[in-house]
Amino acid sequence: MSSGLPSYDQAAAIVADYAARLRSFRPATETVALARAPGRVLAQSLIADQDQPPFARSTRDGFACRAAEASRHTKLKVTGGTHAGEPPGGPLPGRAAWEIMTGAPVPSGADAVVMLEHVEADAGNVRLLPSRTIKPGENIVAKGAQARAGEELLSAGSLVSPGTVALAAACGYAALKVFTRPRVAILATGDELVPVEAAPKPGQIRNSNAPMLAAMVAAAGGEAWILPAAGDRAEALDAALAEAVAADMLIVSGGVSAGKFDLVEPALARIGACFHFTGVRMQPGKPTVFGELPRPGDDPPLPFFGLPGNPVSTAVTFQLFAAPVLAALAGCRERLPRFVLARLAPPVDRHGKAGLTRFLPAFCDFGSSAGKPPKVRFVPWQGSGDLVALARSNCFAVVPEDSEGLKAGALLRILLP
Ligand code: AMP
Ligand code: MG
Repeated sequence: MSSGLPSYDQAAAIVADYAARLRSFRPATETVALARAPGRVLAQSLIADQDQPPFARSTRDGFACRAAEASRHTKLKVTGGTHAGEPPGGPLPGRAAWEIMTGAPVPSGADAVVMLEHVEADAGNVRLLPSRTIKPGENIVAKGAQARAGEELLSAGSLVSPGTVALAAACGYAALKVFTRPRVAILATGDELVPVEAAPKPGQIRNSNAPMLAAMVAAAGGEAWILPAAGDRAEALDAALAEAVAADMLIVSGGVSAGKFDLVEPALARIGACFHFTGVRMQPGKPTVFGELPRPGDDPPLPFFGLPGNPVSTAVTFQLFAAPVLAALAGCRERLPRFVLARLAPPVDRHGKAGLTRFLPAFCDFGSSAGKPPKVRFVPWQGSGDLVALARSNCFAVVPEDSEGLKAGALLRILLP
């Protein structure tokens, strides 16, 4: 039955094209204090207000000098000194040195800084040790070497990292203009679901997908809007979907398989959904649905995903398909999902499934030996409902659809969170 479905790569390409088109729309913006900006997406350029560094800066404690003079290993008279925070000193007289601290401006006339540890000092003179050499420019970062005043340092669409915060602070931005977060409606479906606070009766389970999806939405730059779970009845789904269309994106969990009570796809179709795919040749996650819902007037269509309800399926399909669309809606230029190569460690008790790309909960030791691919191992699991395995994993290992068995030591792609 899966032969007519797109492969994972084909489905991923459909999502990537869609996300690329979304990136041409600019979301609304808001201004936030610098401390609240990490994780947000820049809606403005960062412009250097002055040269960076703003003065020729010493990177060492030592002595500013002329490299040519110091290289003769003769005595240089120490004629002044500059601490970090003091204005530039100088000019440096001939055959002289100038005491200088890390971060301090280099005096005019000097072209190098010799490290404190590389000189012998006595009676107000210093001399470069015979075993040491010095070249012009050494231990100095020239004024404007990193950026020139007025230069664009980062453009809109960049994710604000701690490094961005540092750069913004250095350039005098106390607040930043960022894109507003897309509001993502989360609708869990299933007659068996009860809220987290409730004690499940026999046959019932707690709705764990809604809080998990809310966490994933937040991590991908959205604002989660959790709707009350809907039962497996057409009227309940119709009512919930009618409310959900006010969001910027919709995630439905459960009810997309081929069972008698899998009523989500017909409910989406009733309100005019256009489907980009209804099923993918992957495991878990085969019933995943992606499409758009029409909205009134000039409003752009609402992207939606119907994700299978088994928690591992929900998690991996969100990461693979929903997160890239959400990131694009959030104005972010960085593309998702992210994969890296890792080396498979034993025990290798998992295998491929003909014609299906598999995404298996795995644990990668990102700290493993430097210069080598990290080691990844499968986390024991009882299938796509296994929340314990999900929580014990930190990535998904990708088993290609044409894989004919895995061997320890093989290089595998892993999906990063
Ligand atoms: P479904 O996709 O509706 O066929 O559900 C597949 C499996 O996932 C069933 O065992 C459901 O009980 C379980 N499931 C569905 N929705 C949730 C949810 N919100 N939280 C936890 N498990 C769920
Ligand atoms: Mg269900």
